[in-house]
Amino acid sequence: MPYQAEYIWLDGATPTQQLRSKTKIVADDVHDMPIWGFDGSSTGQATGDHSDCVLQPVFTCPDPIRGGRNKLVLCEVLDADTLKPHVTNTRAAAAKTAKKYAKYDMWFGLEQEYTMLRLDGTPIGFPEGGGFPGPQGPYYCGVGTGKIMGRDIVERHTQACIDAGLSISGTNPEVMAGQWEFQIGPLGVLEVGDQLNVARWLLHRIAEDYDVVISLDAKPVKGDWNGAGCHTNFSTNEMRESYAAIEKACKAIGKKFEMLVANYGDDIESRLTGDHETAPWNKFSYGVSDRGASIRIPWQVEKDGKGYAEDRRPNANCDPYTVARLLTDVVCTDAAGK
Ligand code: ADP
Ligand code: MN
Ligand code: MN
Ligand code: MN
Repeated sequence: MPYQAEYIWLDGATPTQQLRSKTKIVADDVHDMPIWGFDGSSTGQATGDHSDCVLQPVFTCPDPIRGGRNKLVLCEVLDADTLKPHVTNTRAAAAKTAKKYAKYDMWFGLEQEYTMLRLDGTPIGFPEGGGFPGPQGPYYCGVGTGKIMGRDIVERHTQACIDAGLSISGTNPEVMAGQWEFQIGPLGVLEVGDQLNVARWLLHRIAEDYDVVISLDAKPVKGDWNGAGCHTNFSTNEMRESYAAIEKACKAIGKKFEMLVANYGDDIESRLTGDHETAPWNKFSYGVSDRGASIRIPWQVEKDGKGYAEDRRPNANCDPYTVARLLTDVVCTDAAGK
């Protein structure tokens, strides 16, 4: 019997690329996923008179939605003429950096926050027909009606990630009503981006069944409501052995902090205000246990004298390939003494 392979890729939308997918029926005996194509003129990746783009499979896993032998196939986009990476393909650049600094064995753990919205754009944690829920406080890791909205989606999504074989490491309700988080990792530079993109796709797909829109906007509600980030926990093999290497990495990042912030996702200034557990986007700081710092060194890490650090600045809508590439470049270039 043939089976279904859902080919997933990132489109050419600006300022934030979006996930797209379509289904290929694959013959019974096909195990290595073939390249495929799509109409790039409908995804912001080509003009109508020269529309073909190529899908190059890079990560395949079981499809937990369809079950059975069906698969999810994450792809890089290639230019049809040259078969080189398309300009929208940020994974290819990350692959080069990962290879260059392979000896540092960079690990990443990403905390993907997101907000569930109704079709009219209001958060599901806010009253229907307008107005606001009670102020923030009871929602983070809360339980019970009136505090928690959307848990059915979270339960299904978490199990789907496990069934797909993804390295999901946890979930929690967030500070704003109707906002949630899941974590992927720790994994390498490319693997963490691949798995986060598949996990994001599964979340959007499952939320369809509930008429809920998943928003990765950095600041979905203005005012005294938390934004949505993608805290990026990172370590080199040296950081996993030495506290000095962790501080050295933080200092290296401090020297490049503006370049990094500029690549951490759209509308970052609205989120990194200095309030709501953020550091201002135009200042750099690091500290132990400090959730108001740009980079937090977890309490346990200081105690153990080794481990990892958390860059708290990337937005929920960041591109994980770009974030992991730039952090690897900055931290490993410094570690290599160049
Ligand atoms: P927080 O206290 O900031 O909410 P979380 O528990 O949500 O922290 O996320 C911590 C993340 O750190 C997890 O995704 C985990 O996989 C990741 N992590 C743990 N150890 C390392 C490490 N050595 N290098 C990189 N990431 C790590
Ligand atoms: Mn977290
Ligand atoms: Mn969080
Ligand atoms: Mn965090």
